[in-house]
Amino acid sequence: MNLDVEQIKKWMIYTNEQIQQNKQYLTELDQAIGDGDHGVNMARGFHEVTLKMNETNYDDVSELMKDVAMTIMSKVGGAAGPLYGTAFLRLSKAWKEEQSIDHPTLANGFREAVEGIQQRGRARPGEKTLVDVWAAVFEYIENNPQIKTEALRGVLRDAVERTKEMIGTKGRAAYFKENSLGHIDPGAMSSYYVFQSLCDILEGN
Ligand code: ADP
Ligand code: MG
Repeated sequence: MNLDVEQIKKWMIYTNEQIQQNKQYLTELDQAIGDGDHGVNMARGFHEVTLKMNETNYDDVSELMKDVAMTIMSKVGGAAGPLYGTAFLRLSKAWKEEQSIDHPTLANGFREAVEGIQQRGRARPGEKTLVDVWAAVFEYIENNPQIKTEALRGVLRDAVERTKEMIGTKGRAAYFKENSLGHIDPGAMSSYYVFQSLCDILEGN
């Protein structure tokens, strides 16, 4: 496995497509246990990411990730903007000057990203946030030097589904307490699109 600048670009383009297609669904999820802006926030941010990538040439993967991080931080807003921004900034730092990402570099990047999100938002796995998906992805990648995308897609589905059984204790979902039960976390769902898109890239699409 090796991911170069073009493939990482594609990862972001596919993510944007997934988010645009599912913007309304993300809105509905956030209406149930938040304020209903997550779909609009993410759609705006990732659209801007594609514009930024279109007008820039990147020498390495790290520079690309840095632009993604900065664009998301300034355009997504809400709680998710700084959290996603931190995650991509950590990827940028972990992948400094890398022309292409092999398995250990990928795993190292996700370790850093999960740590960054957790430092920023103070949420642990099990608190019904996007951490539940990012942590599950990291765990799978770390334990599987040969990534099987079918398995990773399954890990993703399970991680998102499990947020239904959790009571929100961070962000706006915390105001809903027990009433957050039975609902998928919006940030977990948007992260699902990010990583389903990564699976598409790993499958060579
Ligand atoms: P806001 O809550 O400000 O309206 P969004 O709706 O864009 O922001 O994003 C909500 C998502 O952000 C939640 O579904 C959750 O996954 C994530 N989130 C919120 N607070 C935290 C936190 N402290 N740690 C990790 N993730 C969080
Ligand atoms: Mg919201």
